[in-house]
This record gives sequence, C-alpha cells and structure tokens, in this order.
Amino acid sequence: MFGPPGSGKGTQASRLASHFGWVHISTGDVFRRHIKQQTELGQKVQQYIEAGQLVPDTITVAMLQEEMQRHPGARGFILDGFPRTIAQAEALDDMLQANGMEVDGLIALDVPESELIERIQIRSQTSGRADDADPKVIQERLKVYHTQTAPVYEYYDRRGKALTIDGTGTIEQITQRLVETIESLVNTA
Ligand code: AMP
Repeated sequence: MFGPPGSGKGTQASRLASHFGWVHISTGDVFRRHIKQQTELGQKVQQYIEAGQLVPDTITVAMLQEEMQRHPGARGFILDGFPRTIAQAEALDDMLQANGMEVDGLIALDVPESELIERIQIRSQTSGRADDADPKVIQERLKVYHTQTAPVYEYYDRRGKALTIDGTGTIEQITQRLVETIESLVNTA
C-alpha cells in the first residue's frame, strides 16, 4: 500500500488485511510500538520519526524482515509504509525471492496535497503522534515522500506492477475500489 502521508494507507491496509485474511505490517506502527516500549530499536529510531525523516534503510529492512518472519504461515502480506526508498524495494525483492515469493503489486492512493494536510491535522487530534501535530514536520514528511519515496512507484511501474487508485471519498468507497482492483490483480482465493 503506497502513497503520501495522510493518504489513508494505514486505514485501508488494515481493512484489506481483514477482508483478504492477510497479515498487515505497518513499519510506522512497529516503530511507534518500539518507541512506546522504549526498546533499543525504539531509542534508535525516535529522532528520525520526530523530525519527519526516514529511518535508515539497514535498520528498517532488518525490522521488516523480522516482522515477516514472525508469520511463517501467512497466506499473504499487506505492507503499509514499506518500501519507502529504492534500496528498500531492492532489499524486499531479494528477501522475497530467497523465500520463493514476490511482490504482487503496488497500489498508490491518490489524494490532493491540500486534503493530505487537512487529514493529518484532523488525525493529530486523536493519534497522539507528535509528527502529525507539527506543521513543519508534516511539510518535511511530504518533502521526503516526493524526493525519496515517489521514485519507488517508478521502480514497480517499470516491472508492470504499479497502479494508482483514487484515494478520495468515504473510507468504504475507497476500500471497495481497492478490493475490486486487488481481485482483478491477484489470486485471492
Ligand atoms: P508512517 O506511520 O508510515 O507515517 O511512518 C511514520 C514514520 O516512521 C515515518 O515518517 C518515518 O520516520 C518512519 N518510517 C516508517 N516506515 C518507514 C520506512 N519504510 N523507511 C523509513 N522510515 C520509515
């Protein structure tokens, strides 16, 4: 699940995971859990997240790999917020290939920038996320998305695996669009 901050990746990934019986991994959620529990990893990543910067690839890839390995019997995964750099996309391909798997597809949620900012500001009232509450950090996250993450779309597009979905409307409407797209894309039986 791909898209800028505030595009609804987390909400939709969670709904799709329930719908299709897949394991949902949100790298942002895992990092926030580590920060809350004050683990060694949490202490390492906190400064990046609070500044709206990406956590370094080596740390992120190792964490993702560990999370996926915790679900050996999974019938599928939906990754939300990963990969966010070309290096992460390459590492994911290598990791999956080594286990006889591959990425079925990347779906980007398309939402106008003004709506993204509005959604993040509304979310900040309940998320308790410091990176949602500070307008400067929101701007930084959007900048990081455009410079470092947007190229990941091209990476999958070149392989014929990228799609863009209209990410506006009600949560239910967007889920419906996604379900229809995924069912036409992959064998979900
Ligand atoms: P998110 O919950 O997806 O908005 O992520 C919140 C923050 O966690 C991001 O702004 C980054 O600091 C960090 N983060 C989450 N996923 C990644 C990733 N794949 N690579 C690097 N940093 C990440």
